[in-house]
Amino acid sequence: MNKKHRPESEMMGSSYDPHLSEGSAKVPIFQTSTFVFKNAEEGKAHFHIAYGLREKNIGESISLAYSRINNPNLEIAEDRLKLWDNADACALFQSGMAAITTTILELTKPNTLILHSSPLYGGTDHFIEHVLPKYNIKSMYFDSFDSLEKIIQEKEEKFPNLEVSLVYIESPANPTNSIVDIKKSKDLANHFSSDKNKVYVAIDNTFMGPVFSQPIDHGADVVLYSATKYIGGHSDLVAGAASGSSEIINRLKGMRVFMGNMATPFTCWLITRSLETLKIRMEKSAENAKKIAEMLNSHSKIEKVHYLSLIDKNTEQYKIYKKQYSSSGGMISIDIKGGEKEAFKFLDNLKLVKLAVSLGGTESLACHPFSMTHADVSIETKNKIGMGESLVRLSIGIEDPDDLINDIKNSLDKI
Ligand SMILES: *Cc1c(COP(=O)(O)O)cnc(C)c1O
Repeated sequence: MNKKHRPESEMMGSSYDPHLSEGSAKVPIFQTSTFVFKNAEEGKAHFHIAYGLREKNIGESISLAYSRINNPNLEIAEDRLKLWDNADACALFQSGMAAITTTILELTKPNTLILHSSPLYGGTDHFIEHVLPKYNIKSMYFDSFDSLEKIIQEKEEKFPNLEVSLVYIESPANPTNSIVDIKKSKDLANHFSSDKNKVYVAIDNTFMGPVFSQPIDHGADVVLYSATKYIGGHSDLVAGAASGSSEIINRLKGMRVFMGNMATPFTCWLITRSLETLKIRMEKSAENAKKIAEMLNSHSKIEKVHYLSLIDKNTEQYKIYKKQYSSSGGMISIDIKGGEKEAFKFLDNLKLVKLAVSLGGTESLACHPFSMTHADVSIETKNKIGMGESLVRLSIGIEDPDDLINDIKNSLDKI
C-alpha cells in the first residue's frame, strides 16, 4: 500500500489487479472449490510449502489449491481489512464466534488458565464457561481498573499452580459499554509470560473497530471481530475476523484449515463491498448516536444512559476512553425506570427502530440483553456488571436522526 493513503482510500482498489480478471473493475466472485495447477511441479510446491516440508524461496508465490485453504475473495478482503487495524495480516472466518473460538483454541492448551474481562459477548461467555472446562482450560475474571498487583494476587490465591495461557478482553463490552484498559491487560500478559510460554492479549473490538479503535497500537496481539456487525454493516451476512502479526495470523489460518470455518467467496465478496463504505457508515451512526444519547440523558423515563461520551470526566474510565477511542461510537445502552415490564413496553412501541438482536447495521435496532443475548449469563455475573432487567441496548443506524429521536421519544411516552 502507498503509505500516504488512508485506509478509506485503499478500499476501492488495493490488493486487486483488474487485468488478472478480464479487466473487471470490481472484484468478481471466485465461486470455485478448487484451482487448476499449471503443472505437477507447481502442485508439489504448493503442498510442500503448505505442510512446512520446505521454506518458500525468496520471491516465490504459492499458487492457490483449494478454497478451504485460500481463495482470491478471502485474500482480497483480508488484505484490505488489515489496513484498518494497522496489522501485518488478517484472517476471515464464517462467523464472529468462529474467529473467537478458533483463536482461543489455537492460543491456549489444556491445564492452563484464561484471564478475561467481564462482561463478554454471550456466546464467548458460554464457550469459556461451559465448553473450555471440558478440555480443562479454566478461566478467571479480572477488572482492568483494579491494580495489577491485586489481579496477580487473586490469580495466585485461586489458581496457584496453573499457567496463564491467554488474556482475553472485550472493549467496549456488550451490552454495558464498559471499557477495558488494553495497556494494563498487556502488562498482565507480560507478567505471566516466559520464554517457554508467551501469553498473548486478544481483544474483541466489534463495537468500535476498526474505524474508531486500533488496539494493536495499544499493545493487543490479536484483534477479533464479529464482521456480521459494522464491517458487514448491512445485516445481510454472518462473518468474523482476526488481525495481528503474521506469526499469529498464520497460526490461526493453520487452525482454520482444519476447523474448516473460513468465510466463503460470497461472504468475502460482500465484505469487500462493505469495506468501501465502512468509515462513512460508522461516522454517521456515531453522529446520530451522540444526539440520541444526549436526548436520552435528560429524559424523565430514563434512569441511566451508558454511552462513552457521557462517562464522568473525573474517572479513570474516561481517561482510557479518550486514549483508546477516537469517537463515542454507535452503541447506546439505557436503563429505563422500572424493570422488564417497562423495558418491554418501550421495545414493543418502537416503529422505525426494529426489535432485533445484532448491531452495527445501516438500520437501528433495539433489544433486551437480560432476557435475549445474555439470557444464559449467570445472575451473579449480571449483578456484578450491572446488567439488569431495565436495560435496553440500542444500535443506532444511519437514518435521519430526528426521525429516530421522535420514534424513541414516542415510544418512551407509551410507558
Ligand atoms: C455478535 C458478536 C459476536 C459474535 O459474532 P457472530 O458473528 O454472531 O458469530 C462476538 N462479539 C461481539 C461483541 C458481538 O457483538
